[in-house]
Amino acid sequence: MSSQKKGRVFSGARPTGRQHLGNYLGAIKNYVALQDEYDCIYCIVDLHALTTVEDTLNLRQNTLEMALDFLAAGIRPAETIMFIQSHVPQVAELHLVLSMISPLGKLTELPTFKEKVRQQPHNVNYGLVGYPVLMAADIVLYKANVVPVGIDQAPHLEYTRETVRTFNHRFNTDVLIEPQMKNTEIPKVLGIDGVEKMSKSLNNHIELAATPEETKKRVMQMTTDPHRILRSDPGNPDICNVFTMHKIFSSSDEIAMVDRECRRAGIGCVDCKALYAKNLNAHLAPFRERRSEFAKDPGYVLGILDDGAKRARKIAEQTMIEVRQAVGLP
Ligand code: SF4
Repeated sequence: MSSQKKGRVFSGARPTGRQHLGNYLGAIKNYVALQDEYDCIYCIVDLHALTTVEDTLNLRQNTLEMALDFLAAGIRPAETIMFIQSHVPQVAELHLVLSMISPLGKLTELPTFKEKVRQQPHNVNYGLVGYPVLMAADIVLYKANVVPVGIDQAPHLEYTRETVRTFNHRFNTDVLIEPQMKNTEIPKVLGIDGVEKMSKSLNNHIELAATPEETKKRVMQMTTDPHRILRSDPGNPDICNVFTMHKIFSSSDEIAMVDRECRRAGIGCVDCKALYAKNLNAHLAPFRERRSEFAKDPGYVLGILDDGAKRARKIAEQTMIEVRQAVGLP
């Protein structure tokens, strides 16, 4: 760990392929910022993906696309470790060890497990129950002190903390580190439907790597204030998702103008969306330029992931030596 940094951050993200605006505002932007204060380890959790992904045909491509987005967004591989979960087999071993001290009753009571059972009743697999155990293994394997989590992942991190306490108590050791939760203000980014959270599966998303034309087309499809039917109707920007996005991507003068003019029907929704699309495209232009450079050389990107795995394995193996010893494995 470098001495100037506050500690080590770990976070895992499923290989969901090309990232969208919701991923960017909800996670990636924070990943990039955390690098200034912490030593960061970012893991593309392909093993976790197996609990819900039945068709693994696109897993490799999705992993590469995601790595491209992370790099283009500003992940700095010289200092940050970015790697693929399954490339560090020690995580599977630690998962197995931790599973022996994981009460089944507790795992099946976690709200996220119940939710998954509702979502995929045809595929309630063993891995799904052990998801929080694998997540705990991920975090403690790298001795992370800090884990950025949104509200939905908070019970899982609490589970990790409990597992660490149980392990250390049971084996009378201090080998595992209890990670601190770093609550991140994760904005709920709505999709272009203005109702649901932005998600690829709902096809209400805007890809970061989309062309400016595609982006504009998606923005022009965005739902606005539902009570504003005619151009001459005054609108309410407070309930309009387009305005929410203006507040992130437009200048303060433009935000004030939309806020004022929408309420007195001085601006139409078409013009308002076109302005947002223009600002969003301008914001994403440097990202897209960097991404297309990286995309020209997939070998370079895979090399970064390999190098990350090598550095991660080094930490992981040291932890496993200590874990095996603490457990008393012969
Ligand atoms: S003018 Fe803009 S803020 Fe107002 S309802 Fe239309 S899109 Fe929304």
